[in-house]
Amino acid sequence: MRIDGSTKVYGIIGNPVSHSKSPVMHNSGFVALGENRVYIPLPVSDVEAGLTGMRGLGLWGASVTIPHKEAVISLLDKVDPVALRIGAVNTINVIETSEGRKLHGSNTDWLGSNRALAEKTDLAAKKVVVLGAGGSARAIGFGLLEAGAEVVLCSRTEQRGRALAADLGCIWYSLDHVDNLSGDILVNATSVGMQPHVDKTLITKNSLACYTVVMDIVYAPLATRLLQEAAAMGCITVNGLEMLLYQGVAQFELWTGKEAPVDVMRRALLEATGNL
Ligand code: NAP
Repeated sequence: MRIDGSTKVYGIIGNPVSHSKSPVMHNSGFVALGENRVYIPLPVSDVEAGLTGMRGLGLWGASVTIPHKEAVISLLDKVDPVALRIGAVNTINVIETSEGRKLHGSNTDWLGSNRALAEKTDLAAKKVVVLGAGGSARAIGFGLLEAGAEVVLCSRTEQRGRALAADLGCIWYSLDHVDNLSGDILVNATSVGMQPHVDKTLITKNSLACYTVVMDIVYAPLATRLLQEAAAMGCITVNGLEMLLYQGVAQFELWTGKEAPVDVMRRALLEATGNL
């Protein structure tokens, strides 16, 4: 990678960011396309100061991660309507206008989960059971509705689950009922099954039989217990790196205006997570 006076700088704003695989993913894509751009970790505790720094230093774009995805919204010049509905921005794109450089916010998490699923199945009119009611479940749920799917939310904490279901306009069930639900697609949008608790899963193996596609957004390990059991029951499986990859692909394409080198970026992620 060559860095010179014309290199456009991007980064990931969050706290912490040292664990992030996004620098490896985006830089591999920039190099593959010969783009004079670089992507760096930007540990930011004060998001307002971080955005002031981004404007002042002339950065061209950024990913936004925990804990700033919600707070960043009021600091941007313009925010995409879907990101506003989700209530979270994970992408900033800097646009040059006649009135100077403007920061535009959008959300590619839902694009990432939709594309990861769409590689395996149509989403329109499909019934999707989403496990969890956190930030990821929120983006995934709104994305599925955008794609014309029917969403059923199933989570542990009633108040949080009902609040998200009300926002999505969908039905909520307690996790106690997870084995009685059915659908075309199941998505685990919780952290259950993540290292070191790799023996954990929220649904019994036999209850997976009714689903055609099962996606887990946990990617450490890549083959979670849920995905192993889903494969054993004959389901098509989608691992958590695919959502991470495609949310990054959407960012890359927004920033560069070019088709992202998906295979190169996937390989970089697999290598960085010890799966190659
Ligand atoms: P979050 O906002 O903290 O939400 C976590 C959700 O998981 C909550 O609904 C929580 O339940 C549920 N949960 C946690 N432990 C549980 C347990 N033992 N039993 C039942 N439910 C449990 O987190 P998030 O940002 O949505 O992220 C969730 C996971 O997705 C994390 O592991 C994260 O690393 C991963 N992730 C992956 C991608 C990707 O691209 N692949 C992107 C973002 C996040 P309550 O509702 O009861 O609190």
